Amino acid sequence: MSAEQQLARLERQILGAARVSSFLDTVDLLRRMLAQESPEIRARVLTLVAPSIGRDLAAAVGAAWNIGVLDAEKVIGEGRVKGVPGTPPKTLVAAARASEKAIGAELAKARKLARVGADVATVLAPVFAASNVLQRDVTTLVNHAGNKGTAAVADAVGLSTVWVAETNACVECLAYSGRISKPGKPFPGGLTYGAKSYHPDPVDVPPLHPRCRCELEPLVSREYADALRREADRSVLRGFSLESEPMRVRVEAAERLLARGVDAPKSVIAYARRAVKRGEFGTRGRP
Ligand SMILES: [Zn+2]
Repeated sequence: MSAEQQLARLERQILGAARVSSFLDTVDLLRRMLAQESPEIRARVLTLVAPSIGRDLAAAVGAAWNIGVLDAEKVIGEGRVKGVPGTPPKTLVAAARASEKAIGAELAKARKLARVGADVATVLAPVFAASNVLQRDVTTLVNHAGNKGTAAVADAVGLSTVWVAETNACVECLAYSGRISKPGKPFPGGLTYGAKSYHPDPVDVPPLHPRCRCELEPLVSREYADALRREADRSVLRGFSLESEPMRVRVEAAERLLARGVDAPKSVIAYARRAVKRGEFGTRGRP
């Protein structure tokens, strides 16, 4: 991946978060105040402004679509592609609005509780719920919109797309990394390095699941897709993963891959064998 592509990718990842950071800062502040049992807390809750957060989430989805389109056009390298819609699919905008509504409802609950003088922990519970919805949906919806934009460009020029997972993605997403889908066609359902897939249905673009960080790119080189497949195998053999994924899942995935036979350097295979024998990877770290 070129530096330019990496930068674009980072931009997309922080885009949504930047727009809602003021809300998240407020939640952090509330957390700190809770630790100090500050009496100002109710006043703070009453000043949270849900509608502006809501508009930002829908705006972030629109902006992510544009970045996905520009990213894809850059990869193809033939300037602006004709026939690409200027806005994300209505379903995504609707999902952003639904998310705004859920966030707004939680915050309204918090305000009501603050007004009637509920204790601090009770008031904060819906605020944290709103924060969780926001963080999850920013990651998921923004990424989805960007990938849809990329797919729209690839479809318009008749190019296939390739799935790109992070090195420490989950065993399901890694199984999609480097997979190719023909123009307008979905990726197959049910791929996984794990014992069983939780997503049996075909999927048109990432995300595969909430908080999924996978991206889509127009396929301009089959070697790149092959390299992604090899990289995914190695991630499984090295146990690169997030703390949120059970160690057992990763060890069993490596065991399964070794049993199936895999093209990887001897040192990597030996490392995986030792981890499987021990029942754990020494580190979840990634390069
Ligand atoms: Zn993913």
